[in-house]
Amino acid sequence: MAETLFGREERGHPREGGVYVRVAVERGIEGAGELTYWSPQVVIVGQRVNVPLGRKDKPAGGIVVAVGGEELLDGFAPDRVKSLLAAGTAHLPEPMLELGRWMSRYYVCPLGMALATMMPAAVKRRAGRRVVTELTPAESPETPPDLTPSARRAWEAIRAMPPGAFPLSPRNLAARIGEKTLGAINRLIRAGLLLEADRETVREAGPPRSLYVEADHPVELTSAQDRIVQGIGAGMDAFGVHLLRGVTGSGKTEVYLRLIDRVLHMKGSALVLVPEISLTPQTAARFEARFREHGVVTLHSGLSATQRHAAWARAASGSARVVVGARSAVFAPLSRLALIVVDEEHDASYKQDQVPRYNARDVAVMRGRIENCPVLLGSATPSLESWANARADRYRLWELPDRVGAGSLPPVEIVDMREERRARAELGGDRDASLGPTLQHAIAETLRDNGQVILLVNRRGFAHYLACPNARCGWVMTCDHCDAGMVLHLGRSLPKGGVVRCHHCLAEQRVPAVCPVCGLAVSRLGAGTQRLEDELARTFGPGTLEPGRTMLRIDSDSMRSGRDYADALARFGRGEVRLLLGTQMIAKGLDFPGVTLVGVVSADTALAMPDFRAAERTFQLVSQVAGRAGRGERPGRVIVQTWEPNAPPIRHAAAHDYPAFAEEELHQRGIARLPPATRMVRIVCRDEDSAKAGEAARALADALRESGGRSVRVEGPMPCPISRIAGHYRFAVEAYGPTAASIQSMLAAARSAGLLLSDAKTAIDVDPVALM
Ligand code: ADP
Ligand code: ZN
Ligand code: ZN
Repeated sequence: MAETLFGREERGHPREGGVYVRVAVERGIEGAGELTYWSPQVVIVGQRVNVPLGRKDKPAGGIVVAVGGEELLDGFAPDRVKSLLAAGTAHLPEPMLELGRWMSRYYVCPLGMALATMMPAAVKRRAGRRVVTELTPAESPETPPDLTPSARRAWEAIRAMPPGAFPLSPRNLAARIGEKTLGAINRLIRAGLLLEADRETVREAGPPRSLYVEADHPVELTSAQDRIVQGIGAGMDAFGVHLLRGVTGSGKTEVYLRLIDRVLHMKGSALVLVPEISLTPQTAARFEARFREHGVVTLHSGLSATQRHAAWARAASGSARVVVGARSAVFAPLSRLALIVVDEEHDASYKQDQVPRYNARDVAVMRGRIENCPVLLGSATPSLESWANARADRYRLWELPDRVGAGSLPPVEIVDMREERRARAELGGDRDASLGPTLQHAIAETLRDNGQVILLVNRRGFAHYLACPNARCGWVMTCDHCDAGMVLHLGRSLPKGGVVRCHHCLAEQRVPAVCPVCGLAVSRLGAGTQRLEDELARTFGPGTLEPGRTMLRIDSDSMRSGRDYADALARFGRGEVRLLLGTQMIAKGLDFPGVTLVGVVSADTALAMPDFRAAERTFQLVSQVAGRAGRGERPGRVIVQTWEPNAPPIRHAAAHDYPAFAEEELHQRGIARLPPATRMVRIVCRDEDSAKAGEAARALADALRESGGRSVRVEGPMPCPISRIAGHYRFAVEAYGPTAASIQSMLAAARSAGLLLSDAKTAIDVDPVALM
């Protein structure tokens, strides 16, 4: 489309009545991502526009970041400035632009990309847009003589109507004046007596599929909850960050609900972030049930583009005043924002792993600062970053140490797998079974007593590795494109015998029968969800645990959509399903009173990760999953199988002792000068040529050492733990500074010297969460 929205505009024409605009282009290239254009029409700052880009004038999206006169030209000749192609209706309010500017600086990415992230694709594409034409009578004093009698009658009827009745659609207008057809009205339009105007609306897409809903019972707050609601409620008119640590089932969600209730009475709006809606459908459903009459929008992956666009429009117009959603909901265009809640604030899914690599929790805190409203972070196992902030009085700490009512936290038994294996061998059983005798007996007992079971396995797939049984050969099946093992997957939709899949580049291969080096039949090592399912079916036999009927597997292989997941949970909730097994997906906010046994099949996989947060993750995982047991009348039991029964995160999680774990772990991080004792940036250089990736990382490390000064420690370059992904070799440089400012000034210096570009070969990750 070379033609502009405003007709053909030749360059060099005298320009009158329009404005110059600075546009942050979404496909922003660093430094060149903000360009000046001419707009013959009024546009406003924050408006989304299309602009011609590059020598071929390819249309590109962007956001207007400044409107003005020739001062925006920066000496550029006015006749060389191109015109906008189109101005859209979507718009980012000023506080969001400010947030975008901060993200661009803090996370080192072009402004246009930061702003592009804030607007869902469905809004940019204007999914489900409907243009309705509406009519208003012209203020014409005379009735033209050549009107037909029927048109004349219609015109007189229209003139008799009150002016407030307009605009009206042609159909509605015809009905009001008693015309059966549009003939007369069309004649009046042609005569210029009725003026047409287009109005854009979003088609009502029908209510989104309802989530797993439980009834919402109004409850009386406990005194501990009440104290917190009063305390946070006293500071609703200003920015402040509150950290609420409460064990699972302690009534945190009820605290959020009460505070939001206050906000709505103050005519404000509230934003609630949850890790992933499809994984926490029960939490989202409670907000919907409680605030239905104030307009609740739940943003989840099951929404169609039209529904998403409609949800955004409702939040922007104020017709919805509560938004519940995952990571990107932090950008919901609510106005009069009066409270932001970040539930499960420690969750790694708040961090986006593409540009801009933001953490929604931290963006929420910055948004609260900009909009001057409180931010409430909640978790049973706060991130050590937030905990350290609370300890340093930057965040205000509130605690709910006990479960609501008589419910108590379940006792956690640590089971040493070495002993289990010995016991198993004495019984003459399968030495490689994933379940030790203790957990197996507990499952049998629970099923006999009509209880329900949740089992956590850390890995998808059937086995983690395919390997040669000959230890001296040592062959392990790895991906051809990545430095990672291939994982076996079986399934009805897969070829017989299954496939092996790479979890990093998704490449698939057929399952090898024999070791390609020595020809021995391959063996399967490690335990994935599928293998455990098989083992359970074999052990407990049909009639007790049947896959797909009384036993369900929940992982990203078996759950294709949010609907599958909601269905599985509903069946578990009704008691049809006796045992649920799955990956971390099931460790999140599930609340089923019938669950009396929770088993962690292996607590060690998280512990063995080459990541300084391995202990923290293990603690979180074991604590979260343990919180799923005993939420009803009957007491719960938790069994954790591990090869390292004395590891501190496992010991402390079993004792439900977060403060002790945090104390010990913060001390270790302090000694090692790791976050949160320091702030960190990690930069990964990738290239198909290993030497080139290494050189780029080396040059970058040198540049950062130069610009970081003495307070920043730069490490690397070093090969990443996964040294190759999808054919690209990867090297990392890490920098640690005493404060965020020290890291920021180092990055800014390197960036302005042109030594640091965020591009396809360089991934800059500020406050990284994943270190693979
Ligand atoms: P959390 O978010 O900390 O896991 P919830 O707010 O979900 O805790 O509360 C756990 C359970 O206790 C829920 O079923 C909730 O309805 C109930 N509950 C919360 N507060 C109260 C209260 N004050 N009185 C009675 N029941 C409550
Ligand atoms: Zn791969
Ligand atoms: Zn071999």
